[in-house]
Amino acid sequence: MILVIAEQKDGRLNRASWEAVAAAQVLAGGRMPVKVAVMGSGIAAVATELAQAAVAEVLTVEADALGSYTPDAFVQAAAAVIAAQAPQYVLLAHTYQTRDFVPTLAARLDRALVTDVIAIRDAAGQTAFARPMFQGKLVADVVPQGPTPHLVTIQIGAFRADAVQKGQAPIAAASVTVDATVIRQRPEPPFQEAKQAVDLSQAERIVAVGRGIKSQENVAVAEQLAQAFGAELAASRPICDNGWLPMERQIGSSGQTVAPKLYVAVGISGAIQHLVGMKGARTIVAINKDAEAPIFEIADYGIVGDLFEIAPALISELKK
Ligand SMILES: Cc1cc2nc3c(=O)[nH]c(=O)nc-3n(C[C@H](O)[C@H](O)[C@H](O)COP(=O)(O)OP(=O)(O)OC[C@H]3O[C@@H](n4cnc5c(N)ncnc54)[C@H](O)[C@@H]3O)c2cc1C
Repeated sequence: MILVIAEQKDGRLNRASWEAVAAAQVLAGGRMPVKVAVMGSGIAAVATELAQAAVAEVLTVEADALGSYTPDAFVQAAAAVIAAQAPQYVLLAHTYQTRDFVPTLAARLDRALVTDVIAIRDAAGQTAFARPMFQGKLVADVVPQGPTPHLVTIQIGAFRADAVQKGQAPIAAASVTVDATVIRQRPEPPFQEAKQAVDLSQAERIVAVGRGIKSQENVAVAEQLAQAFGAELAASRPICDNGWLPMERQIGSSGQTVAPKLYVAVGISGAIQHLVGMKGARTIVAINKDAEAPIFEIADYGIVGDLFEIAPALISELKK
């Protein structure tokens, strides 16, 4: 059996959890049942949403102590569900929260953990999990060793949420008690900045601007293009390093990993450190004056030309 641990915040499902369900269905290949667990408090609606997948069961892990995320409570609850369910694999989306508590969970269980997985392959009869290494320069096929369950986290954008096989799953409450006295962290209210911060991983459309924009004043051109597309504005690293846009809008290996439906790269060359953050986008449009720019290798639509001519033309067309 494969157990997916879905992620929710304030009763809202993280879209990346659907991608983990899609990955679990691929891994199961119809030979193994898939179950989905969701932890928190006030998660009935999230469970109902997850029950629309073709899975064997949705397990709700409800406890007051899981209301606000803390690694201690989540490790404890996840370990209890895993012990009760005895899955062969545990899959999670590779979110910030997963990165925070799953290494501890794997250590607590003394089981193998493969992170940031982009594909599931057959390696001479064994199941291998492909993951990028060395900033995406290599992709390694990793076969986890040792007793099960093997823990696997799925890179955002590697599997498609809309590929989830739909169905109708029963919902059951997992009987897990969380001992609140062992929780060492005291969650504080999210700080103001985090509230306003954009979560680009959830954006459906992104316009990203690179060094081709040349100066801070010109960033407005990209901003207008983003507005015309109804898109979030993002950037390559030099733009954020220069302080032309805040760090939270950086895409790439040292920024955010995104998987929007549409990604428009404006004046971005397509360095590997940028590509690893956005190559999961469904449709990639690149605007670059250099026809040899590496971004065109992964673009679905390429526009070779001066962005200062093309962006205004696109804006006026979109406004029509
Ligand atoms: C450890 C490490 C981590 C990194 N992490 C990240 C990361 O997270 N994200 C990231 O983005 N980078 C990252 N980088 C940097 C990365 O290697 C590249 O340097 C960076 O992505 C380049 O940004 P760029 O494409 O905007 O700029 P450039 O490579 O300078 O490309 C600018 C492009 O604009 C085009 N252009 C110029 N003028 C015009 C015009 N008028 N019209 C149209 N096109 C034009 C040019 O042809 C060129 O292709 C990292 C590097 C290292 C070493």
